[in-house]
Amino acid sequence: MKKSPQHLFPVWRGAGGGPSWGWPRCIGWEAVEGEAEPQGFDCPFWCVLCRGGRERLKQACQRGREVLRLPANMLRIKLPHLFDNHQVPKVFREDSIISGYRHPQSSAMDCILSSFQMTNETVNIWTHFLPTWYFLWRFFLLCTTENFLSESYTWPLLVYMMLICLYPFISSCAHTFSTMSPEARHICYFFDYGALSLYSLGCAIAYGSYVMPECWVNSWLHQHFVSIAIANTIFCTSMSCYSRFLELQFPHKSKILRTGAFVLPFVFDNIPLVYRLVLCFSGHCSHTEAVSSHCYHLLFAFLTGFLFASHLPERLAPGRFDYFGHSHQLFHICAVVGTHFQMEAVLADMSSRHSWLIAHSPGPFFLGTLGALALAFILNMGIIGLFSACLLRTPNLSTSGLSTTHTTHTTHTHSKEE
Ligand SMILES: [Zn+2]
Repeated sequence: MKKSPQHLFPVWRGAGGGPSWGWPRCIGWEAVEGEAEPQGFDCPFWCVLCRGGRERLKQACQRGREVLRLPANMLRIKLPHLFDNHQVPKVFREDSIISGYRHPQSSAMDCILSSFQMTNETVNIWTHFLPTWYFLWRFFLLCTTENFLSESYTWPLLVYMMLICLYPFISSCAHTFSTMSPEARHICYFFDYGALSLYSLGCAIAYGSYVMPECWVNSWLHQHFVSIAIANTIFCTSMSCYSRFLELQFPHKSKILRTGAFVLPFVFDNIPLVYRLVLCFSGHCSHTEAVSSHCYHLLFAFLTGFLFASHLPERLAPGRFDYFGHSHQLFHICAVVGTHFQMEAVLADMSSRHSWLIAHSPGPFFLGTLGALALAFILNMGIIGLFSACLLRTPNLSTSGLSTTHTTHTTHTHSKEE
């Protein structure tokens, strides 16, 4: 009677038991044909123990464990270590933020990965990255309803929409890559300031075309509104970039200069709007559809400025708001919510005042819209290029006024110990 195969003990297979034996081939569970029913630990167990099998069994088990452990190791990603403010060079420190700093010489890949790790920059990155997609989505919807190619009346809106998509995206990138080196940090923020400055031009172009009070249409200010706004972008980008060089030695001067650099174009852009709102509240305006959105925008714009200048709430409790709730995160959120209301207001004015504006003004033209944007873009890129070249050509300019030797050394030593 033929015995059915039985699977009882592991036995070694393979020619000569060479080193090529691997886990799947080295052990098989089988019964030996033509022999009596195996009883307990018979020949196979003896083979394993007496012909060097014990060692092979150990090796095989070890290999097996490694194979099983591999997927777990692949899933376990080691996150970069974070630092406290005294462990990073002064140029990377933020007011009243104590912990959660990334390595000051992170690679580009580390910077991208850090956006998925909780650091003191993570919320800054996402509070401008996600709104970029919201504004792009609104822009896409407008592209399906407006004729941007041939209708010149829509060009100010086109410029405005491009810039409200650009500024949060550049800001998000600046916050992501600002820890690659001191120079990279400065250059990242030069671009951030440049994008904000261009956004102020986008506001001026949209306001000059759709928001201007009726009594100011065709006035000297209306005719020169965009030209002055281009000059403002040059002033704003230059001053804000320059303020970074004063940051370490004269932090208060730097803060005042940077705040002033952004307040000037904001105040200028909003002069016609504020005048129109004053007229509306005194009962002298005809198009009121956009008034509430304009008011909400102004409210959030003031909140944005206040948070930027005050460093609240982290100034009241340093270290408490390192990851969530510090002023820069709130500043980003207020800026984006304000921009949302501004966009709604511009869209409301654009449609409700269409016929009146077409009848009473020459209407938007290429040089005053897309041409102005192209010119301002080139000029601002030139300014950023000049500041970046100046920074890269002058050794230690990016870290001047601080004792980098000790802090950088400490950081490196610390990271090597990890
Ligand atoms: Zn920011």
